[in-house]
Amino acid sequence: MIILKFGGTSVGTVENIKKVAKIVVANDESKIVVLSAMSGVTNTLQKISNLLYLKNYEEAKLEIQILNNKYKSIIQRLFNVETSFNKADVMLTYHYNLLLSILDIEFEEKHEKIILAQGELVSTNLFQLFLEEIGESSSLISAFDFMKIDINGEPEVQTIENKLLNIISNRLDTKIFITQGFICKNTKGEIDNLKRGGSDYTASIIGAAIDATQIQIWTDIDGMHNNDPRFVDQTISIDEISYDEAAELAYFGAKILHPQSIIPAKEKNIPVLIKNTFKPEAKGTLIHHNTVPKRIRAVAAKDNITAIKIKSYRMLMAYGFLKKIFEVFDKNQTAIDMITTSEVAVSLTIDNIHNIDKIIQELKGFGSIEIDSELSIICIAGDLAQNKKGITSSIFNCLKNIPIRMISYGGSNHNLSFLVKTSDKIAVLNLLNKGLFHNLVKKINLF
Ligand code: ASP
Repeated sequence: MIILKFGGTSVGTVENIKKVAKIVVANDESKIVVLSAMSGVTNTLQKISNLLYLKNYEEAKLEIQILNNKYKSIIQRLFNVETSFNKADVMLTYHYNLLLSILDIEFEEKHEKIILAQGELVSTNLFQLFLEEIGESSSLISAFDFMKIDINGEPEVQTIENKLLNIISNRLDTKIFITQGFICKNTKGEIDNLKRGGSDYTASIIGAAIDATQIQIWTDIDGMHNNDPRFVDQTISIDEISYDEAAELAYFGAKILHPQSIIPAKEKNIPVLIKNTFKPEAKGTLIHHNTVPKRIRAVAAKDNITAIKIKSYRMLMAYGFLKKIFEVFDKNQTAIDMITTSEVAVSLTIDNIHNIDKIIQELKGFGSIEIDSELSIICIAGDLAQNKKGITSSIFNCLKNIPIRMISYGGSNHNLSFLVKTSDKIAVLNLLNKGLFHNLVKKINLF
């Protein structure tokens, strides 16, 4: 059995839904199709939820109506058969009324999760009705029936496996299962989610639970690239990449894949294939164990980074200092991305500045604090084992004229990252492209 996950753009218009259907029914293999909400819908739902939180009922109602009209116009164009249209219309009315009903009650945190879930619920329903209309039988299974998270928001792997296998084994004649990405139930049995962009994670969790032969992530570009095609002209798509390299890239910028989604696939050694819905003939990128090692596989950048430097002579030869600093970030639920230390100072970076004022206040108790913002982390992924010569020099030779704020190397065998001003990012990506991939760039120029 394989898993096929389609993201927001893939199911974002009538034409695209039809393209997805074509891909899904292209072969006889048994599959589970995981769908996101149509592109932009989760953002709109988030906006509605924020408006309700602020008690701005008028505007929230307007947004709900606009969303409903958008869906209505989609079903008018998607369905040719009256009975399918009517079923879709009834389904939309149900979700529309559900959103409206939240206007009448005291808004609580759990309502946000209910609101956000509507996007995936609608797109999976629409897709199933569309397959029915074109004569393809499928089973819609609710993520709420098997996708459970624990108290820390992490998937309850064993429960998910048991529940999902049970559902599937009761429908042995089904070849196409459809389910929602992103949404789940928490320990209280309430509607919850795997955080924004979490549909990839759903696909990977499901793939691991049923021991899928492959997890396919269908998106809107031809797999992962060796550099960021938005800022660099001559990038090439990567045919294959290891789980570790893909995880580094996913976290540090390459927005193609949710970073956590690598873990379940890697643990079960299930290949992940990234494909382009709009160019299904393109090879895509295969993430798996047995890749041919490549010194430098790819470069990616992550923006909106803030660096915090804590300088203190109390740190000299003392133990326990770092622990105290980490505790401040832990208490304020802020993840640290990069860290470098000297005998008298620690520099670290964060991308979530929600609690930065509290963090600074507490860090002031340890020493003097300096903050730099508008920074970008540049991540280089590849086979960068520290026992090999020349790796760092080949990288930094390209960047002679670029000021570098922090460098992190040796944390893993697959990553070297450094911090630059965001205003230097495009120059850095281009310099690295020229310097590290020049053979490939030359080859492109020949054609
Ligand atoms: N619809 C959700 C989001 O926009 C989940 C996803 O698409 O992965 O974040």
